[in-house]
Amino acid sequence: MRLLLATRNRGKTAEIAAILQGTGVQVLSLDDVPGEPPEVVEDGATFEDNAGKKALAVARWAGMPALADDSGLVVPALGGEPGVHSSRYAGREGDSEANMDLLLERMADLPTSRRAAHFECVMALASPDGRTWTSRGRVDRIIATGKAGKGGFGYDPVFFYTLAGKTFAQMDIQEKNRVSHRSRALKALAGRWPEIMEELGRGSEATSGKRL
Ligand code: IMP
Repeated sequence: MRLLLATRNRGKTAEIAAILQGTGVQVLSLDDVPGEPPEVVEDGATFEDNAGKKALAVARWAGMPALADDSGLVVPALGGEPGVHSSRYAGREGDSEANMDLLLERMADLPTSRRAAHFECVMALASPDGRTWTSRGRVDRIIATGKAGKGGFGYDPVFFYTLAGKTFAQMDIQEKNRVSHRSRALKALAGRWPEIMEELGRGSEATSGKRL
């Protein structure tokens, strides 16, 4: 079966392909298919909404099952912020430095006991006929009082992974991937793979007479 990932990010593609290795799935990214996928506005109230919306739009456009993820940072002491607004918390899409500065400013007076935070990721797999399967993963630690490290992306320099004694941005990529919210969501999905494959196959036979 071919599975299209709703991303052009090579890091994400490699990570997902590695976890699904041996399941008989050929993992493709948007770079492997011609044309431009539909623009999807990530305006959902939850990670599920956004991941499901992206996966469905891409599956319908490509005519094959698609997998999309949506993730972000959740800080309970800030009422769940930045949450679904993680990538544009300070106003400009993808401005990680400004996002982290705003987060550190809003948390400036909070003691360690109130600095808990988690990264959360929802993976949604959609079939072109409109069915979706979702899984979730999270990693819990604390927000540091300043930035440290040059690796990773987004909020990694302020996410202090206490077990390793360093931020996500100070860990190497394999070390981060082993514990990340994304890999946990993916592993949860991979664990249900036989069941999902069977349901996908059944649905496609019923609707189009074609095996995936
Ligand atoms: P997306 O799911 O790739 O759209 O991620 C949304 C936003 O959440 C990113 O722009 C980052 O700000 C943040 N984020 C998600 N995953 C991570 C991570 O592993 N490290 C740091 N920031 C992350």
